[in-house]
Amino acid sequence: MLSVEEALALVEKHCAPLAARRVPLGESLGLKLAEDIASDINSPPHDKAMMDGYAVRSADRESVRRVLEEIAAGSVPTVALAPGTVSRIMTGAPLPEGADAVVPVEQSEMVEAETVRLQQIDLVPGQNVLPLGASMRVGDMVLRSGAIVRPVEVAILAETGHDVVLVMPRPRVAILPTGNELVGVGEKPSAGQIRNSNGPMLRAAAIRAEAKATELSVARDTHNELTRQIERGLTADMLVLSGGVSAGKFDLVPQVLAELGVETVFHKIALRPGKPLWFGVKKASGRTVLVFGLPGNPVSSLVCFELFVRPAIAALSGRGFVQLSAVKAKLDRAYDHAGGRAACLPAVLTKEGSEYRVSVLPWQGSADLATLAQANGLVRFPAEKRPYEAGAVLEVLPL
Ligand code: AMP
Ligand code: MG
Repeated sequence: MLSVEEALALVEKHCAPLAARRVPLGESLGLKLAEDIASDINSPPHDKAMMDGYAVRSADRESVRRVLEEIAAGSVPTVALAPGTVSRIMTGAPLPEGADAVVPVEQSEMVEAETVRLQQIDLVPGQNVLPLGASMRVGDMVLRSGAIVRPVEVAILAETGHDVVLVMPRPRVAILPTGNELVGVGEKPSAGQIRNSNGPMLRAAAIRAEAKATELSVARDTHNELTRQIERGLTADMLVLSGGVSAGKFDLVPQVLAELGVETVFHKIALRPGKPLWFGVKKASGRTVLVFGLPGNPVSSLVCFELFVRPAIAALSGRGFVQLSAVKAKLDRAYDHAGGRAACLPAVLTKEGSEYRVSVLPWQGSADLATLAQANGLVRFPAEKRPYEAGAVLEVLPL
């Protein structure tokens, strides 16, 4: 059986970044820029007051001075400062001609209507002033292609007038839950039935991984229904199925995928939980659709998502084939790893000083969502059978 590493290498081989696309600025957060961004403005656009107060000539030495006018942010000065005069100015407003510093309002008192006494007269030129273009100038390259858009990049794009921006788009991911036993979240399960929890869980996981995710309605384990729903899912960039890939009589997913032209890349890997994982690709008219068949058991489904689907989503949006970064943590007590397959188990990660400690949760098998909910990480054991002592260092993926 394929090791986790071999399976990951095969998935990575089939992940090509999607074509760059223009999106509204408001949808660019978390995506990778696909163009250099030049500024069309000087910022600030003028020598700008950094405090509310008085625009002054720093060389003037008298403490009582005549006030010429009031300059609010958004307006422009109308008179130049002559020696011995000042203008009242608000934060952000342009300095009048002749002024080269600002005395904060707290360092002043009005003597009469048009006259002010300044408590601070020993200013240096430029004090409390941000000069024109100090942050950026027309034509400056302010962002580079390849940068990931964070809130500050959103601000720079806004400041430089980019209401649409060329980015590596979020992959469209279709989630398809399968199973005769599944009923909707709003329904009460009858005998033999359970609610579809994987659909909403996987959609949420895909959204958190920066995909544009939709959940298709549940496909029963019939040839017709699977064919119809899988065809729908294949219009996305990636199709993530849950269930129907194990060895049961009604596990028809691999067969239907093959009939629809999806090539199998691998089926079954040496992982616990997650052994039935299926992966393939559909290539048609220059487009590649990645298809993951995740095991139906919820814990297996989530483990396979985090190990395999998350990095594929990142790779399609040009961010590289990367999982969440693992931390190294010390086992809190001995653990006897049965081996044969690598394990990726729900665990609690805690920080003690500068070190992490990890505690494997006593879970009740791959359907145990309640225990998984107590976990904040997945602890990884390599495939080799081995007793681990307390204090052994292992990798933990944060959840
Ligand atoms: P399967 O992989 O189809 O054999 O399903 C394995 C187990 O996962 C079964 O106990 C299913 O009932 C359960 N399961 C499958 N799909 C879902 C789902 N969408 N939500 C919750 N449990 C599921
Ligand atoms: Mg099933």
